[in-house]
This record gives sequence, structure tokens and C-alpha cells, in this order.
Amino acid sequence: MTRRWLFADQLGPHFLDEPDQPVLLVESRRVFARRRFHRQKAHLVLSALRHRAAELGDQAVFVQDDGYGPAVRAQRERVSVCHPTTRPALRLVQELGVEVLPARGFATEQQQFARWAGGHGSLLMEAFYRDARRRLGVLMEPDGPVGGTWNYDHDNREPPPADGLHLDEPWWPEEDEIDEQVRADLDRWEREGTARFVGRDGPRRFAATRAEALAALDHFVERRLPTFGPTEDAMLRRDWTMSHSLLSATMNLGLLDPMECVRRAEAAYRSGAAPLASVEGYVRQLIGWRDYVYGTYWWFGPDYPGANALGATTPLPDWFRELDADAVEAACLRDVLAGVRDRGWVHHIPRLMVLGNYALQRGWSPQELTAWFHECFVDGYEWVMVANIIGMSQHADGGAMATKPYASGGAYINRMSDYCKPCAYDPKVRVGPTACPFTAGYWAFLDRTQPLLAANPRMSRPLLGLARLSDREALVEQERARGSAPP
Ligand code: SF4
Repeated sequence: MTRRWLFADQLGPHFLDEPDQPVLLVESRRVFARRRFHRQKAHLVLSALRHRAAELGDQAVFVQDDGYGPAVRAQRERVSVCHPTTRPALRLVQELGVEVLPARGFATEQQQFARWAGGHGSLLMEAFYRDARRRLGVLMEPDGPVGGTWNYDHDNREPPPADGLHLDEPWWPEEDEIDEQVRADLDRWEREGTARFVGRDGPRRFAATRAEALAALDHFVERRLPTFGPTEDAMLRRDWTMSHSLLSATMNLGLLDPMECVRRAEAAYRSGAAPLASVEGYVRQLIGWRDYVYGTYWWFGPDYPGANALGATTPLPDWFRELDADAVEAACLRDVLAGVRDRGWVHHIPRLMVLGNYALQRGWSPQELTAWFHECFVDGYEWVMVANIIGMSQHADGGAMATKPYASGGAYINRMSDYCKPCAYDPKVRVGPTACPFTAGYWAFLDRTQPLLAANPRMSRPLLGLARLSDREALVEQERARGSAPP
């Protein structure tokens, strides 16, 4: 049996061939000197790695303080690894002569994705998702999808209830002496200048061991999955978790296999414990969206992260880069940026429709934005963020993934959240002191990118609207004057 090298995102039991397989774990501190991460992300990853090392005991060689190369070369046995999740990590293991096995931790393998993508003219997520449902036999009956319909999106776009969701607290981990040691080490490295962090320290909020992951999954399926669907796209100022699973960071550490979560959710539907719309919405996020962004990361090739079809080159302003939420007056952006600062996590709609939307409107560099999301989010890894930001959020791939840019004005945020009422701005106003920066930014974005988007049939109506604006000139001038200042 080879010694299995487990990267810090391969920590679950399914990355071993046998439960007693010898293991190599490497905690390479150089990563933190090379690149700045959210403090709570650094904590979570180190905590998970050290907990795994403690669980495995003598079964694992746990190398700290050393680079990957010396740690691998020091092993007497042959070393194998499950296909790493990113190109730089794949290059590294290949250079070190490590045996590379197929990837684990995804429901669709790269070759399966490539077969699907090669046979389709356009890479629509919905088509991929249906193919995965059929192939994996998830929520299927002999004659088609359960309930006769593939997609319950129309049931899953409700605005937030005015008086909140009234859910129990989510499952939270209890920190232990390993977390205490991690916190002390991170403090020391920062003092010594060997690590740089962004964001605030805080209690660990995400599962870092297999036992914790299973407890968090149980809790989600029993208490939150039933209400997940209808409000999965909604945002509430005083409820950052809503019905979300809070399992993405744990799954991206490899502590849960997506298919075990899917099977649990499906069983909840079949036993009558959760409605189909909620279960389908959750399943879509796992074997649809998650595998789709993983597949496209590899499918589109090494040049994809550099794509910049809309010519967006403005650097990220310091207030955004440094998570300075207090500098922001716009209620939605202020709250979402504070969420990133305080937790390293906000759910998919604040990411796409607040943070990503704001950056898209202002022509911020998609490469800088991808790096920012990777650094600031506890569940952010290169394979996750490239497709999400370059393709989905910033339309930097010119439409290879999404048929039109995800730009929208304040009306969307107003409909899907409770942010606008107490805000100093008005989502209906385009020009003037109360002009909503999202509404004004939306039209300024169309004005700037019109030559690039004119050929897109899905943009003809918005561009017609732009042509009819009576205050277009004043609006463009206003947004030019606003520049990169916090809104
Ligand atoms: Fe955000 Fe505009 Fe609504 Fe204020 S008015 S919360 S800036 S969308």
C-alpha cells in the first residue's frame, strides 16, 4: 500500500483506500508568508489539518514547518495522492513524482464532465445538472424526475418573510485545545511577520473534523433543509445563516462527500421530512453547481483565469480589499462586507448580487476579484472561485458560462432583502444625493459596456432601456465622479 498524501482539502475518510493506509500530512507555513488569507480561514484549515493528524496518530507522518517537497522526498514508501483540486497543486505533485489517482470528493469526475461538455454546443448548467441527476440516479423515478419537474427554481425565489424565519440556531462547533494552539500560532506568526491576515478573528464557526461534519449535516437535514428552498436567494440583515447548510467550507476540506449529503437530503424528501422544492434546490447546489464549477475549471484550460472580455482593469479599492465595512454607507454592501470581515462567509446571493454585482458595475479587475474571494472566504479555493467569478459573476469569459452578465440595479436587492428600507439611498433613484449606487451603477455599466454587449440578444432590452434614459449623461458623470470611493 502506498503512503497517501492528503492535502488540506482531502481530509475525509474517502480519500484513503483502506482505513489503516499510511498517511502523509504537510502543514506548509510558507503559504501564509506568500499570500494573505482571512484569519478565520487560516484557522479553519489549520485546525482541520491538525485534528486529522491527531485522529490518525501513528498512522500519519505529520510534517510541520517544512515545504511540501522535502516532506515528500523524506518518505521511504511510494507516495500517492488523489488528483489535487488545482493546477498549481497538480504541477507540484507531478514534479515530485507522486502517483496521481483520480479525484475524489466530487460527484462528477473530470472525464465525465469532459465527455458531457464535448458533446454540447453550450455549457448550460441546467443541462449538466439534468445529465448528472440521470447518471447518478438522484431524485429520479423510472419515467423521469421525481415530481415530474427538474427544476423548482420558481418556488425557490421568494423574498424574505417580513418577520424573519424563526429557525433554531444552526449547529456550532466547540473549540478545543487544538483550536487554542492554532490561535496562538497564528497570533505569533502575525507578530513575527511570517504571516499576514485579513478580516477579524472569531470563534470557529465551521466543522473541522469528520465527527463535527456529520453532526452539522444531521442538524441541517433535520432542522433547516425543510425551509431551505423558498428563501435560498433571500437576504436578511439580522440573519446571516437563514436556512443555509453552512457546510460548504467543510465539504471543501473534504470532510463530507457531496453524494452522502445528496443521499441524506433525498431520504428526507422520500420520508416526508422535507419538501421536494427545498431538497431539489439543495441537490442542485451540490451535484449541479458545485460539480459544474469544478468541471469548468479544468475544461476551460489554463488561460481561463486570465480572461477579461469586458476589459475591466480598475484595481480593487483599499476599502474593499481591506474589508473596511465601516467606510461604506450603502446598507446592503456595508452589511455584506462586514459579514466577510467578521466571518469569512456570506451566502451565494450576497456574493453574486451585492459584492460581485458592485465590482462588475465598476469594471474592477476580475483577476483581482477572484484572488480576493479566494483569500477572504472560508470555503474559497482556486477551483471554486475561478468559474464563479470569471464566468458567472464578472462575465469575463464573454459568455462561455452565463448567457448574460449578472448585473442588476437596486430593485433586485430591494425585492430580495430587507436592506433598502433603512438605507440612506433609494433603490428607485438614479441621479442625485439619494441615488442608489447599484441602480446608478447598473446603468453606468450598460453605458460603458454597450459596444461589447450589443450583439448579445439577451441584452437588447436593457440596452433599449439605456437608450431611453433621459438623464443618461448626468448619471454617467455622477458615477465617474464617484469613482472608487466607498458608496
Ligand atoms: Fe443597497 Fe441601494 Fe438598497 Fe441601499 S438602496 S440597500 S445601496 S440596493
